[in-house]
Amino acid sequence: MKYFISHEAFAKKEAVKFKELLLEYNNEHKLYLTSDWNSLSCGNIWMSDIFIELQECDELLVLITRQDAFDNLWINFEIGAAIGRKLKPKIFIFGEIDFSYIKYPIKGIHCIATGDTNRWTEELQKLDYDIKDHIPFSLLFKQNLCPNCGSTNQQYLEGCLTCKDCGASRCG
Ligand SMILES: [Zn+2]
Repeated sequence: MKYFISHEAFAKKEAVKFKELLLEYNNEHKLYLTSDWNSLSCGNIWMSDIFIELQECDELLVLITRQDAFDNLWINFEIGAAIGRKLKPKIFIFGEIDFSYIKYPIKGIHCIATGDTNRWTEELQKLDYDIKDHIPFSLLFKQNLCPNCGSTNQQYLEGCLTCKDCGASRCG
């Protein structure tokens, strides 16, 4: 399988780390990331490389680490290309980005809140990544630490992000 990881240049560090973490669990799938040299071969025309990968990938994973990413032309272009091929992009929303700011086309897609450990591990499982240790990922999605005890172990309960260790709820 080929998975294309879409992200904005601002989130390059997170995207590279995300790819590294996934590779620790499974290196059979090809992960395409525009910001690392293993994905873009030297001497190739990078734009045509991206077009080819968008046409060939089996899944599009989108990393949203800040509000501005919703306006990023590349991210929207890559999502549009995937939808045009009838793929359902998996959109990982880091931290506490307000979902009400989400615009089309992302608005029409079911987004994955990374604060909810059950939810994102389940999505990665569908891609063949059986995440045994969620902490390195949760630290990457760093805005998600429990404000009360710093735990990464959180879950949405009745619409509220709730810490499974100390019980603190973000809804007060
Ligand atoms: Zn807590």
